[in-house]
Amino acid sequence: MRRRHLLLVLFALAAACASPAVKPPPPKLGPVAPPPTAAPAPAPTPAPEAPPVGPVTPPVVSGDMIFDAWAAEFYGRALKAGIARDLLDREMAGLTPDPRVASRDSRQPEFSQPISVYIKGAVTDGTAAIGGRKRGEVAQLPDIEQRFGVPREILIAIWARESGFGAIQGNFDVIRAMASLAAQGRRRDWAEGELISALRIIGSGEATRAQLKGSWAGAMGQTQFTPSSYLATAVDGDGDGKRDIWGSPADALASAASLLSKGGWVRGQSWAREVTVPADFDFSMSEGPKLTPDAWAALGVTRADGLPWTDADKTAEAQLLAPAGAMGPVFLLFPNHFVIRKYNNSVAYALAVGLLADRIAGEGPLVKPWPAEAPLSLTDRMTAQRALIALGFSPGTPDGVVGMGTRTALRAWQKSRGVTADGYLSPAMVEKLKAETSAAQSAPTPAPAGS
Ligand code: CA
Repeated sequence: MRRRHLLLVLFALAAACASPAVKPPPPKLGPVAPPPTAAPAPAPTPAPEAPPVGPVTPPVVSGDMIFDAWAAEFYGRALKAGIARDLLDREMAGLTPDPRVASRDSRQPEFSQPISVYIKGAVTDGTAAIGGRKRGEVAQLPDIEQRFGVPREILIAIWARESGFGAIQGNFDVIRAMASLAAQGRRRDWAEGELISALRIIGSGEATRAQLKGSWAGAMGQTQFTPSSYLATAVDGDGDGKRDIWGSPADALASAASLLSKGGWVRGQSWAREVTVPADFDFSMSEGPKLTPDAWAALGVTRADGLPWTDADKTAEAQLLAPAGAMGPVFLLFPNHFVIRKYNNSVAYALAVGLLADRIAGEGPLVKPWPAEAPLSLTDRMTAQRALIALGFSPGTPDGVVGMGTRTALRAWQKSRGVTADGYLSPAMVEKLKAETSAAQSAPTPAPAGS
């Protein structure tokens, strides 16, 4: 029963992952490669001793014309990048596109998950309890913390998010996944770079092809490193001289600490703090200026737990964020929040990691609970973006992704209409935008923006 419960928790953790911990841009609609036709894998050509002369014929005959045409061109680029011919011949032989990769890369969620739902799924008592136990199990954690300056709870929380403490690392063949993404074309340069990095890892002997398993987007091991991140950033954490992010928790956690340290982690500073704001607070300052805690205090912003700011935090410039709008919890984001986003550039991800780390460290739940949030359909999100454009504001291309551009435009529109300018797209805001645009369309002359 206990094991079954743990598995369910781990499955829930993995299911709650909003996006893989990789550096590519978020998936958008793109062309889907046709499914591959079954073709027998040709035998690898024998490796020549000397560099090849004349045109190169790669041993890739998948039957998928787009894939094979890409592979033929990639072969030349990989040789130029210094990948050995025999290695290329061996690893590319019989390669076919993975249709699961194409379908996942083109998936656009019909309903966006509200941030509170994502965070409540990630920051649970059960996960915090497992994290607390894991903190005691990895003997090297104090050394890793000392070496890189990143709190062990942050590393444990990343481990939980990325792979359910190592349980779910992904079973895609990273070479095939990266080749499939490269052939598809939308992220070709990125995917080819990762493919070449993966080939270099095999060439170096640090990992075998069979070990190079990961997510569909190429994130590998217990802390989900892309091949290029692995080459540049992974470190040995258990002292055996190897960087085994798949099998060694200490190596995976030290590598995560290395990545955050290189990203600018400030030793001794908070990642964020929940704050309270005055009733008449101007929410248009959210995601805006970066001010010291003292400057925020002058605007009436104080720590929600009532404690004073530490000396280390007092020196930092922090940005205010109200992720669920004025009705939800408000945070001051310290520079370390933005360092976590180098792992996965998502506000929700960074908040989930930080809040889970706080809970593992023994802190209580948020002072202000998350409000009830309704999911918005893709149509609603795009309608709101088109309405903002029609009303003279600039959310960017209407793509259904409520990012920084949409939130900034929404705040400007809210402020001009005398509404709480929290940049939060609620169903009520969608309706208000719809009503205003239909009124503008029926009016003889549309009102100018900002009036
Ligand atoms: Ca090691």
